[in-house]
Order: sequence, then structure tokens, then C-alpha cells
Amino acid sequence: MTDRLQTFAHHWLTAPVVKLLGLPRPPFLGRTAGPFAAQALSGRKALLLQGAKGYAAETLRQILAGAGATILSPADGGAPDIVVLDASGCMNAQACRDAYALLHPVIGSLASNARVLLVGAPPAQAPSAAAAGALEGFTRSLAKEVGRYGATANLVQVAPDALARMDWIVRFFCGHHSTYISGQVLRPHALARVPAAQPQAATLAGKVALVTGSARGIGRATAVRLAQEGATVICADLAAAGAELDALCTQIGGVALQLDIAAPDTPAQVQQFCQSRFGGLDIVVHNAGITRDRTLARMSASEWDAVMAVNLEAVLRLTDALLQHGTLRDEGRIVCLSSTSAIAGNFGQTNYACAKSAIIAWVAASAAALAARGITINALAPGFIDTAMTRKMPFTTREAGRRLNALRQAGLPEDVANAVAFLSAPGASSLSGAVLRVCGQSIVGA
Ligand code: NAD
Repeated sequence: MTDRLQTFAHHWLTAPVVKLLGLPRPPFLGRTAGPFAAQALSGRKALLLQGAKGYAAETLRQILAGAGATILSPADGGAPDIVVLDASGCMNAQACRDAYALLHPVIGSLASNARVLLVGAPPAQAPSAAAAGALEGFTRSLAKEVGRYGATANLVQVAPDALARMDWIVRFFCGHHSTYISGQVLRPHALARVPAAQPQAATLAGKVALVTGSARGIGRATAVRLAQEGATVICADLAAAGAELDALCTQIGGVALQLDIAAPDTPAQVQQFCQSRFGGLDIVVHNAGITRDRTLARMSASEWDAVMAVNLEAVLRLTDALLQHGTLRDEGRIVCLSSTSAIAGNFGQTNYACAKSAIIAWVAASAAALAARGITINALAPGFIDTAMTRKMPFTTREAGRRLNALRQAGLPEDVANAVAFLSAPGASSLSGAVLRVCGQSIVGA
């Protein structure tokens, strides 16, 4: 859907009217349509800032250089595309003054669509807990300030023992595949083992992925994106969406599977299909989802049941079947679509938020047990993404949903698909049990 406000806000004739009316000016966002690349940051200027007593700067320098970025020194001036701050030595809230002092002189000269990445210590113990909290508040506020230029700011809190696993995270958060992710905090850990091969391009070559609800919207974009990374994609959706599913599979060389994810015999059928046709599965993306929005007082039992059956029960039952029979292979990846509504709650969505919050809690609780087999499990919480699901909303609700975030616009299905591809990659072994919001730092649940 065209963003008319964005068009008007940037046209010389209509821009003054948009300003006069006090309407937001959505920036144009830098996006990369293609797959991940070995030289992902090639042609981009990165400024690496080192806070006192930090332990991450040398690793960060190697990662940025390895990804092809040109590393600037503060004296070079110019407009950096990437600013990375090693704040890992920041062990109390006062020491966060470093973050202020180092970023203050450069933040006004960021290139549009720049990436700011702060790297801090995890909040394992006081006093570092206070420092970790301080950096979180700092990053979230900074993200709101830089968002109007299409820039993002995120924080990674990493312990020294997980530092060697930062490569994939830095590449993603400093590149243009993370366009609609801002104000987020990631805590990589060393729970699941590191796969022997961690390719930075063609990251999913030889892998088999299942994407539910892939006939349209986020699921479709995800199937396309995983195929771009080299995966063979099993695209599952309702029989009613058979034509779209077939067209998609022809386009990406995928395999169509018509099914109702909530039907009682679906988990066994899918498990047997993946086992007999491919000898197993490497990635499962639980994307199929539905809404039946109504206030609790007016919600029918069938509206409640349908949402729980598709958005929660089907996810648990299918995962169970794939794990019980060993169909999901070692070092597998499970990615579940949750929602910012699950985090913040939403009017008329008791059923939807109930199911989607259950997913977040279940993901967090499942990570440790799955780590023994090197499997990771994560949730994505999209905010307002422009799809058929959100196009059903009344105009005013829809317009509010699109604008109430730091980037002042809706995300695209491809933005979520990029996050799925990021979490599905072998390099993402340090992230499990997490929920990552893809919401442009929506005020809902951000
Ligand atoms: P969509 O409605 O555009 O597409 C959903 C797909 O799932 C459709 O192809 C549909 O046929 C399929 N599906 C529904 N029920 C199914 C079933 N029983 N069995 C098999 N397939 C089924 O939705 P979307 O906007 O692309 O959302 C995808 C996921 O992201 C959902 O889980 C949704 O809750 C979540 N999400 C979306 C947004 C957003 O803004 N669009 C925000 C937060 C979360």
C-alpha cells in the first residue's frame, strides 16, 4: 500500500501543508532486497567508539572490517553510516556518562538511514545491572531521536564468553536488512553450540525450511527470503490459498503443502511428509495466524477458540511432533511469529494477545532444553506491518498503527522476513529464548 503521507511530506508542493498540519514526516528507509552478503557492509563508513575498560572493541573492529566497512576515526569527521560504541566496560550507571560523552559529538552528523549499535555488559549482577538498565533506557530514547532520519539504534548486552558469537549480530544490526528494528535489546549467550559452518552468504544452502501460512503477507515474504538464502522451502497454507501457494512454489522452487494447521491430524502428516521427502527439517517458521477482533464482552466462543487453535495450539502440537520424532534436526531453528499486541495488550484482542503472549513465554521456557541439541527457538513480535491482516483495520486505527513508531510508517513483510532469515542462520546460535520486535520501535510494546 502506497504511503501517501510519505509522498506528500517529501514533495516540495505539499510538504509545507504537511508541516503546517503538524503531521509526521516519515523518512524514506534504506532497504536491501537481496540476500545476505559476505561483504555486507561494503562501501559503508563505520565509526567505532571505545568506552573506558571495554572488552569488545577489538572484536567489533575485526567484525566491521571483515564485513567490508571502512573504519573511521572520530578525527575523520564526515557522516558515518554506522556508529558502534563499546560500552562493555560500563559497570555502573555513572559510567554511562561515557555513552553521552562519546556519542554527543557525532550523533548530529549521522548519515540518513544510519545504524547505531551499543554493546554493553549483561545485567548479571549489581552494580552492572544498574549500568545495563541505564544503557537500555539510553538506547531506547536515542532510537526515538534518530528514527526521524530513518536511522536505528539497538543494544547488545554480551558477556565475554559470548563475544566470539557477535559476528552475525553486528553484521545484521549494522546493515540494511534490519531496517525496521530499532530500540531493541539482545542478550546473546553461549547456551547452544556453534555450528561447524557459519556461512555469511548463501546462509541456508542445503537446509530444508517449513513456513506455515506462506501464501501471502509475511509468510510469503519469508518463504521467498529463505529460498534466496539457499533453503528448500516447504510452503504450507490452506487449500483455499492453493493457487497462490502453487505460484509461489513455482517462483522459488519450493514445495506446496495444502493443509489446515489447526486440524487434528496435521502435525503427524507434516512430520511424516518432512521425514519421508527430505529425511528431516532444519527450520520451522510458525507464521500462520488469524485475528478475530472483538471486545471480550462481545467475543463469541468460536472467535476465541479459532484464534487459540491456529495461533497457539497448532504451534505447540506441530513443534512437539517434529521434536518427538527427531524430524527437526540438530542445530535446527524454530522461529515463531508473535506480536507487539502480546507485549502491550490491545483493545479487542484478548484472544489474539493471549495466544501470542503464550508463544513468547513458551519460547523463553523451551530454549534451555533445546540447546542440548544445538536447536534455537525465538519469537518475533512484528508491530504494524502492511499486509492483508492490517488492511482489514478501520482507517483511523490503521493510520494510528502506522504512525505511532519511531520511523513513522508501517513495516513491510520483507522487514519481518529479513528478521526470520537472520534468526534462521547458523550464525545466530547465540540467540535463543528471545523475543525480537520488528516494529520500528512502536509505542505499543516497545
Ligand atoms: P495474513 O493474514 O496476511 O496471512 C496469514 C496466512 O496464514 C494466510 O496465507 C492464511 O491463509 C494463512 N493461514 C491462516 N490460517 C491458517 C490455517 N489454519 N492453516 C494454514 N494456514 C493458515 O497475515 P500476516 O499479516 O502476514 O501475518 C503473519 C503472522 O504475523 C501472523 O501470525 C500474525 O499474527 C503475525 N503478525 C502480523 C502483524 C501485521 O501487522 N501484519 C503484526 C503482528 C504479528
